[in-house]
Amino acid sequence: MPTNPYAWLDDSLKTIHQADWYRSVQAIEGLPGATVLLAGQEVINFASNDYLGLAGDERLIQAGMASLQKFGTGSTGSRLLSGHRELHRELEKAIAALKQTEDAIVFSSGYLANLGAIAALVGKRDLILSDQYNHSSLKNGAILSGAAIVEYPHGDVAALKIQLSQQRQNYRRCLIITDSVFSMDGDLCPLPTLLSLADEFSCMLLVDEAHATGVMGKTGAGCVEHFGLTGKQLIQVGTLSKALGSLGGYVVGSATLIDFLRNRAPTWIYTTALSPADTAVALAAIKIVQQEPQRRTQLWGNVDYFKKLMQAHLPKLKLLPSESPIVCFQLPSATAALITSKHLTTSAIFAPAIRPPTVPTSRIRISMMATHEPRHIEKLVAALIKINRQ
Ligand SMILES: *Cc1c(COP(=O)(O)O)cnc(C)c1O
Repeated sequence: MPTNPYAWLDDSLKTIHQADWYRSVQAIEGLPGATVLLAGQEVINFASNDYLGLAGDERLIQAGMASLQKFGTGSTGSRLLSGHRELHRELEKAIAALKQTEDAIVFSSGYLANLGAIAALVGKRDLILSDQYNHSSLKNGAILSGAAIVEYPHGDVAALKIQLSQQRQNYRRCLIITDSVFSMDGDLCPLPTLLSLADEFSCMLLVDEAHATGVMGKTGAGCVEHFGLTGKQLIQVGTLSKALGSLGGYVVGSATLIDFLRNRAPTWIYTTALSPADTAVALAAIKIVQQEPQRRTQLWGNVDYFKKLMQAHLPKLKLLPSESPIVCFQLPSATAALITSKHLTTSAIFAPAIRPPTVPTSRIRISMMATHEPRHIEKLVAALIKINRQ
């Protein structure tokens, strides 16, 4: 008698439930912003990557609508076939100008940008050194490339250097890959040291600026700018879907690098080009990032205010080290994190519990926006004080 080959799915889901690792979706209604409607209740939104509050901005909405009317809905093909529009090149030039690099290439998501770039740059005879806390797209890009992969402990440049001295000579090319702002922790990679190690051992360095673009650095160019490394030879990846409020991803760097990726990145060649609406929206967002630096000032003011209130009222709650608008506090278990997140929702605060397997230890992740008002942050801290009294 043949057995049901899908029966294991039920068992697997049961195990996920028992560990309190089960995930499900929650629908946001209406426009995104500092407050949103969640299951009919207005909540203060500390769960979004929309750091500058642009995803609901009228100017971006208008740019998207105008583009839809002019160019239609879908791009109808890959960039190399029928999908290419002048608008894509305009966006690529705008990203390269923001980052002060020679060129840029736009992908249909940040995830695809990482998969495509890594798979194109290294192969079987090569070595990848990867931070243990890297985003899933970097990790899966490494696997897809077929290169040998060595994970180094999070941010540990001494361990990385030992690996490089032991292993570098056994491989043809070597690529170091890292998030710049770590997405689930909010701390930064030691970029200056990584760059000098890359130089010393003839390695390429790929840095993922997904959470840094629009946020870090004086002009919002990212951590590369924040660390004063603008113009250095390296590979930068990012997304159009976080501070830029659209959808899509990109790689920036030298003209040669970008030309190579246009010829070799499978996730660029064999997928449909970014839609005209997403492209126009991202283009409008980059203009605002450049023209309205006060949004970054507001964002950093909010981050400081939150940390100051936490220090004054809840010094015992352990905040994870962070130098970004992502601030997390650790909880002893997935169950504790879920309970805290539910209590917060009761107080009209939307802040997600982040649990294994996404991260090794459970936490509540707060992500600050430029458009939060002082009273939003005060309500968050008041809710945390109340939960910690229970
Ligand atoms: C969100 C994110 C991505 C993926 O970007 P998408 O455009 O959402 O696919 C890649 N890397 C990091 C570090 C991210 O946080």
